[in-house]
Amino acid sequence: MRIDIVTIFPEYVEPLRHALLGKALEQGILSVGVHDLRAWAQDAHKSVDDTPCGGGPGMVMQYEPLARTAAAINADGDKPLHIYLSPQGTTFNHELAAELARKPRIALWCGRYEGLDQRFIVEHIDAEISIGDFVLSGGEIAAAIIIDAVLRLIPGVLGDAASVAEDSFHHKLLDHPHYTRPENTAKIRAPEILLSGNHALIARWRLKQALGRTFLHRPDILNQLELSDAQQKLLNEFLTEQHLGEPS
Ligand code: SAM
Repeated sequence: MRIDIVTIFPEYVEPLRHALLGKALEQGILSVGVHDLRAWAQDAHKSVDDTPCGGGPGMVMQYEPLARTAAAINADGDKPLHIYLSPQGTTFNHELAAELARKPRIALWCGRYEGLDQRFIVEHIDAEISIGDFVLSGGEIAAAIIIDAVLRLIPGVLGDAASVAEDSFHHKLLDHPHYTRPENTAKIRAPEILLSGNHALIARWRLKQALGRTFLHRPDILNQLELSDAQQKLLNEFLTEQHLGEPS
């Protein structure tokens, strides 16, 4: 996969080269192009923004440097899916991450100030993605979040593929709780079943916890699922154990 990142703060995305991204780069699973928008500015001051047409506060990122950057990116290999990080976009989630992980090339456009000139969005942007209903100062952090979530879904990026398969949302349920050594902390012992060595019982317990957690924390997700009889039985068992009664 290739990811192009367009920003006026290339140094903000450099830390991405550590951890996940670094591994994917080393393994050749990923190549990254960081594009400094100012390199495509025309004046001596390297300006990429100007005051808004119609007046008002803030600055707007200018069409020309954006369009020149897009032309350079498009000319360098296959045209990517151009994504503008924007609070007005489709809210990012696991399904969207999985969809992006299947693309050969994406370009992430990080806005600043009031955002990009609308004419650039109309002409060049294929999709707008938001990371939530709040406003950041710039798209770089949003780009980092998207890159992280997308990369861990690409086969070979994570050491243990099974850990992705068990993560929250992968099977529509939240993940089960995790414990590690020591078996006893000052007040709480790890669940006996996890120490039993019985893998069938451990798998059953984990599924029950995943169902229970999803019921408690994300009933909206659970309501969209059609539970099998066995899953419903496990959920009922969880609720009885927690003294919560059975779902109506
Ligand atoms: N005036 C814009 C609006 O209200 O829609 C907000 C501009 S914001 C201050 C500057 C940049 O931060 C945006 O162009 C976008 O790239 C990025 N940004 C802000 N919030 C975001 C979010 N929730 N998701 C993704 N990107 C965001």
